[in-house]
Amino acid sequence: MRIAALLLALLASLPLSGQYRCANSELWRGNPAQTPANSGAQSVLQREPIVIPVVVHVVWRSAPENITDAQVESQIEVLNEDFRALNAEATTVPAIFNPVLADMEIEFCLVATTRTQTNVSGIGTRFEGGLRQVCYNSLGGHDAIDPSQYLNIWVAGRTDGACGDAPLPGQTDPVPPAEDGVFIRPDCFGASGIAGPPYNLGRTTTHEIGHWLNLKHLWGEGFEDPLCQTDDMVADTPEQAYSYQDECPTHPSLSCGTADMFMNFMNYTNDACMALFTEGQKERAWAAISTYRPGLLGASCNPVSAFEPQQTLTDIRLFNNPADSWTALQLPEKDIFEIAIFDQLGRLVFIESPTGGGLFYIDTRSFISGIYYIKIRNEGKIHTKKLNIVR
Ligand SMILES: [Zn+2]
Repeated sequence: MRIAALLLALLASLPLSGQYRCANSELWRGNPAQTPANSGAQSVLQREPIVIPVVVHVVWRSAPENITDAQVESQIEVLNEDFRALNAEATTVPAIFNPVLADMEIEFCLVATTRTQTNVSGIGTRFEGGLRQVCYNSLGGHDAIDPSQYLNIWVAGRTDGACGDAPLPGQTDPVPPAEDGVFIRPDCFGASGIAGPPYNLGRTTTHEIGHWLNLKHLWGEGFEDPLCQTDDMVADTPEQAYSYQDECPTHPSLSCGTADMFMNFMNYTNDACMALFTEGQKERAWAAISTYRPGLLGASCNPVSAFEPQQTLTDIRLFNNPADSWTALQLPEKDIFEIAIFDQLGRLVFIESPTGGGLFYIDTRSFISGIYYIKIRNEGKIHTKKLNIVR
């Protein structure tokens, strides 16, 4: 009986219209993303806002899909409002949710836009030989630019009617690095150009980047959660049954015994009715960065050339790792390097700019035991080494 009721409810909640917000519920079937073991509240203490460099890959078939630079830039503006609680809707959040409204302290900088004409229709959701075509030059799309250093957003047509999707880094079957990013349909991207209502305020990308930072839908697993059985693993978002697909409800809207935070970015509510992330979501997102995406900490906003996908320095070796009192880098014989070392919470613990190449010694006696990330930067190229201090 219970299963029958669940099936009926699931069927009732399936999108009936030609388009819908996000395809991630399908990706999660039988694949519950678990919250990572993380450093909890510690991870949100004492740090600067992170600035995530973004590469936008416009992969177009029909001319309108080749969206303008202005439309791309409008999306970056939306992200920089939504992830800093600077969006106008933040002021409309019901008083009951105000105490948990979070400034995510995450910003975005556009470092490159690539443009690729393709003859594959709906390439954003097409696979060949198990590979997501839009992510590969060889399959009609465009290669990612170093996903450990950049957020790659592919803007491309789809076959599933959804506005977007994005894998969670903590899902049980993570995607290959080459396909790690966010996928958005061109008419759901940005806040100008061909973006069309009700998805014309850039919130699909805000939502999908939420997934990319390991945030789940507020109702938990599946299309909806009518029996209130699954949760988003975040304590300060109320348990919720519905997805609010294409809706713009009024507060209070109740399910699972409490008022729903339908205006949270991780719902399917219309763009105009989305308003906030919470402190709990912020903690989960920041934990995901230090756990799964440490390369973003201290990443560079220097523009990268779309025609130079290899942005990594080679010929750098790290000696004496794990280290106690010292470590050393073998640097190529050229130019000036910037060497910055970050701890697991993203705090800068060392920075120096040695000139020339050769062996560069680093005194690590003041470092406490643990994992560190060494960023070596030269002419806009970055290489990351993982350093383990053991005593
Ligand atoms: Zn989603």
